[in-house]
Amino acid sequence: MNCYQLLQDPDQAVVKQQLNMLLGDDHPQVLENLRREADQVRHRQVGDTVHIRGIIEFSNYCIRSCRYCGLNRSNEEIHRYRIPPDEIVETAREAAAMGLKTIVLQSGDDFFYTREVMADMVREIKKTGMAITLAMGERPAEDYRAWREAGADRYLLKFETSNPGLYSLFHPGTSLDIRLRCLLELRELGYQVGSGFMIGLPGQTAEILADDLMLMRHLQLEMAGVGPFIPHPATPLGVKQAGGVPLALKVLALSRLMLPRAHLPATTALSSLERDGRRLGLTGGANVLMPNITPLEYRKLYEIYPQKAEVTDTPWDLYKATLELINELGRYVAIDPGHGLTPIK
Ligand code: SAM
Repeated sequence: MNCYQLLQDPDQAVVKQQLNMLLGDDHPQVLENLRREADQVRHRQVGDTVHIRGIIEFSNYCIRSCRYCGLNRSNEEIHRYRIPPDEIVETAREAAAMGLKTIVLQSGDDFFYTREVMADMVREIKKTGMAITLAMGERPAEDYRAWREAGADRYLLKFETSNPGLYSLFHPGTSLDIRLRCLLELRELGYQVGSGFMIGLPGQTAEILADDLMLMRHLQLEMAGVGPFIPHPATPLGVKQAGGVPLALKVLALSRLMLPRAHLPATTALSSLERDGRRLGLTGGANVLMPNITPLEYRKLYEIYPQKAEVTDTPWDLYKATLELINELGRYVAIDPGHGLTPIK
């Protein structure tokens, strides 16, 4: 029996045991086998098309104090910026003209962009025909509702770690329960929901990673983002070690086996640690790329961690490189918006 079948066992204790075993075994052959199986499952379940989502990181202001993140409110070394709504809409229009089918609007948790301002922006961008994904952190349910009614299709909010103790340690003043409640609200409002976690956070064990993967499946996510933790020197976790690339690739492969029909990106964090990260991601379970199309003058300021990939190329160059990579791998650029998929019976 292959790992994929074992991980579909209805008995959660069997799944957990299998995940613990796979995560605890560092042999390179285990990783290679998982990557091959993830690639086959990806091919069977979501096909050979790759969805390209253009991401605009529109503000690096944040009211939170996440201990791993360079945007945290106590970081006084960072130069803060906000892109004016008109410029965000214009950037989105240019993305639509380039051929992108989805725009992702991401920011720190920044309430300068009010419920109404965001709803107006969403309505304006929807006129381009693109799907809209928002990733703006924890907001009141009424904000989520207004943006959904304005036309937003998806929301990304990672749970970061499924361990309540670690969650509270890294997110002072909030809790895993609050984050899960936001995810539930988003689901009830009819968003396609994306979530995920970081790999290699200090204190994270193989068992916690297994729980992370199980929580991801429990949430029945349409999109899942898993990427390595990268220490930022201006944060309390700045002296810690980064998550390992082999472990990140293993968790990505396991994510595909756990969520066969989900949209899984080859993350920027992975390509920030490993030059070939996007290719390795796409050949090991991923079916999404997210080129950064933030206007260049702001791009390097969105420093959630140092040496972030894609901070110097123009949106057009990044888009072209993305198309070339997909072509080189014998895959196809999706022509549909890449909405959430229902399970194959
Ligand atoms: N404010 C929104 C939120 O909290 O979801 C979106 C912005 S937040 C900066 C986006 C993601 O960056 C987080 O979900 C987290 O996983 C990731 N991130 C932040 N700091 C990181 C680090 N040092 N290493 C890897 N990923 C990091």
